Amino acid sequence: MIQTAKYTKELLKLFSTSSNILLVSHINPDGDAIGSQLALHNYLLSIGKNSEMIAPNNLQEFLKWMDGAQKINVFIRNREKCTRIIQEADLIVMVDFNQSNRLGEAESLIVASPATKVIIDHHLDPGNFANLLISDPSKCSTAEIVYNLVTGMNGGEYLNKSYSEALYVGIITDTGNFEHGLYTSRTMNIVASLLETGIEKEKILNSIYNNFSVDRMRLQGFALNQRMVILSEFRTAYIYLTKADLALYNHEKGDTEGFVNLPLSIKNIVFSTLFIEKDGFVKLSFRSKGDFPSNEFAAEYFSGGGHLNASGGEYPGTLENTIEYFLKVLRDNFGRLSNNNSK
Ligand code: 5GP
Ligand code: MN
Repeated sequence: MIQTAKYTKELLKLFSTSSNILLVSHINPDGDAIGSQLALHNYLLSIGKNSEMIAPNNLQEFLKWMDGAQKINVFIRNREKCTRIIQEADLIVMVDFNQSNRLGEAESLIVASPATKVIIDHHLDPGNFANLLISDPSKCSTAEIVYNLVTGMNGGEYLNKSYSEALYVGIITDTGNFEHGLYTSRTMNIVASLLETGIEKEKILNSIYNNFSVDRMRLQGFALNQRMVILSEFRTAYIYLTKADLALYNHEKGDTEGFVNLPLSIKNIVFSTLFIEKDGFVKLSFRSKGDFPSNEFAAEYFSGGGHLNASGGEYPGTLENTIEYFLKVLRDNFGRLSNNNSK
């Protein structure tokens, strides 16, 4: 666990001595990335500091309603403006990622920038591309770290509705609405104070979880019915989706989000993988229960990484080759999977 007080001081000094502050989230930004980014933006405004915000690519529909989301500049949609913002920044704060390739097409510009760089994150094994690394993998979300930092910088709790809403979104999305992840009693205390600001919990939950298209629901049914394979001997299940499958259900960005979690609801299944066919490669998502290190599996065999129980990677091959390779790798890891303590 990190000593928040130490970082609070450093961060406050950086904020007060910088004039052009840039807040950056990661590629395919999730609720924690956008929530942390918006919360920091909101706090900076409260101390009379303006900040610009950049996301490497588009926000998913379920996050676009958030207060301030329209102010986030999407790099691939407006390269010229984003390039200018990056070049003008004297402080760049990156949230919810710790490898520079998560910056997508903005990576080279940000890495090359002479601005002071800060990372605020909760992923394991941070890379070395910032001047100040605030990393706490024991926290369920970057939003929780942001709450602690801002509370420290503010000398007490800083709370307003938009800020609280943003952090609440970060915490619920990274814990699957308190179904998984490293949330603690401390997290719940934070959530309690966020709720006290009068945020509309029901509206937020509906915007995030009950907002699917009919096509997306049918794609989920199809995936479970036709594309899920159970490998009982490995306590593993996988789902694969071809480009044609996705086209059949008018796939939109984000539609397959959450599919990889579904097989973990099956008794005795401790490892789940989702294969999505892309042009020239396959994108994989991994989830595990218990102590099977899905991130090590991702890093070792699929050029990826992530958290112990939630990670991802990719493989340069056809869907068929990738599944074949995956099955071989599973056989090699059979011991680790069968010894998994999770019930
Ligand atoms: P998801 O399966 O939701 O796309 O990703 C889950 C987690 O795995 C992410 O929060 C991220 O930490 C990690 N992850 C996903 N894809 C990749 C990847 O290609 N490379 C790395 N290093 N991490 C990934
Ligand atoms: Mn996160």
